[in-house]
Amino acid sequence: MLNDPIPPHVDPRKLADRGVTLEGSLPLSDLERLCDPLSDNLGTVQVKFVFERDERKAVVIHSHLDVEVKMVCQRCLELVTLPIHSESSYAVVKEGANTQSLPKGYDVLELGEDPLDLQALIEEELLLALPIVPAHHPEECQQPAGADEPEPSEDEVTRSNPFSVLAQLKRDPNV
Ligand SMILES: [Zn+2]
Repeated sequence: MLNDPIPPHVDPRKLADRGVTLEGSLPLSDLERLCDPLSDNLGTVQVKFVFERDERKAVVIHSHLDVEVKMVCQRCLELVTLPIHSESSYAVVKEGANTQSLPKGYDVLELGEDPLDLQALIEEELLLALPIVPAHHPEECQQPAGADEPEPSEDEVTRSNPFSVLAQLKRDPNV
């Protein structure tokens, strides 16, 4: 495991030109919104970002995120430790660019001249990777088998989508 700090803001175009891979870690407690649904904020996010230009010279970013989080099991209401792993690929485009020709499987990341808020991107990706209904593996759960499955609450189902947060990133005066 590497423990280099991950820079909060980066210029993905420069990093892609140099073919940079950023690898490091980030304290879970730095990601306040992510910690909201968690039982505690202890832990470390292992982060890897690969920046490159694809065959069409477009800037692409591949992310690999790993973290262990503690949540409340919705069956037995005891704590459950859940390994969260997330991988995504992003295509960086200019604001207002035509995104029709982008290859499938990429999330579009609109970016003007401002740096990319990498920390916010990590937080958003991990939020989407959290289970909607956290629970133990059935064999490890205190709740006897055959108990009613919990229903996801309305709040959890309607959580934010990545696009609203990307819009928010661009409005952030700190970037
Ligand atoms: Zn349980």
